Amino acid sequence: MPSYQVPAFLAELLHARSPSGYEGEAQAVFDRHVKPAADTYAQDALGNRLATLNPPGDPVLMLAGHMDELGLIITYVNKDGFIYFDTIGGHDRTVISGRRVIIQTANGPVKGVTGKRAIHLMDEADRKKVPEIHEIWMDIGARSKKEALERVAIGDVATYDHELELIHGSIGTARAFDNKVGAYIVGETLIRLAREKKKLAARVVSVATAQEEIGVRGATTSAYAVNPHIAVAVDVGHATDHPDCDNRKYGETKLSGGPIICRGANINPKVFDRLLKAAKKLKIPYQLEADPRPTGTDARAIQMGRGGVATGLISVPLRYMHTPSEVVDLEDVERCVQLLVEFAKGLEPGDYAHW
Ligand SMILES: [Zn+2]
Repeated sequence: MPSYQVPAFLAELLHARSPSGYEGEAQAVFDRHVKPAADTYAQDALGNRLATLNPPGDPVLMLAGHMDELGLIITYVNKDGFIYFDTIGGHDRTVISGRRVIIQTANGPVKGVTGKRAIHLMDEADRKKVPEIHEIWMDIGARSKKEALERVAIGDVATYDHELELIHGSIGTARAFDNKVGAYIVGETLIRLAREKKKLAARVVSVATAQEEIGVRGATTSAYAVNPHIAVAVDVGHATDHPDCDNRKYGETKLSGGPIICRGANINPKVFDRLLKAAKKLKIPYQLEADPRPTGTDARAIQMGRGGVATGLISVPLRYMHTPSEVVDLEDVERCVQLLVEFAKGLEPGDYAHW
């Protein structure tokens, strides 16, 4: 059976290491793939990337996908050369130790592992505990503080050394599908729209946002700069179809079920309707989720930008969020691109989704 063809742009984004505040590698990939398709292209002081298509267009549509990922930041090196860190983003502390990591330094990547006390050396009570962050360390094979600090510096960041792999057909695993898929989807949507620009009334601004994982910070500033009428944030959402997810609490969404379209106070009802209409027109599978509060995504910041923005949210179903082995069906990613292309083409001049 031929293996699934992963788009080069997506594969490169997944390979790029981009913890919040250190998005350089992902920026470079976005620049390389999206800039050539854009009419204008900008970067800003937070590290966002803003690609604009059809600048005279009306309404202004902003598409946002964050390119930052979880990471570990070095805070202290002890006298024996063991490295202590803090977490960037919401980590599950039960899965941090026992990993291979790559530390990004001024002199290039440094390999290491995350260590903690072995199970044999723990008493019964300790075995049941989740380790505190200061009870885990990085080991780069250094024998002293001096030797370690010749190779890494305080403030250097690390990510798990887990690369994209296809596990079956179009189902893949990677360390940061959250949210490289979102950055890919907004960039790829702009690339495809550029090929049929004549059909486009809207100005489309695709933004690869920075620092989402630590408080939707890039979306906050870029929404101000873009000043859109309408926006759609693209992120990952929980697929609740594994053996330990109570549908009564978390709803019903599944891997390979198509884009998850969100509904609730964070979502403009007209934008929701139009996303739904676009999915139906394309005859692609889609699924719904409801959230009564501001969502934990860029949509939260964008909706509250300036005088308020008509905002929607679509999510790629994903299992095992914020672990080193997130699982996504890449067909769901492709359907999100198709959905946004159709949605953008459907916007008409003067259509601001006011209600
Ligand atoms: Zn996340």
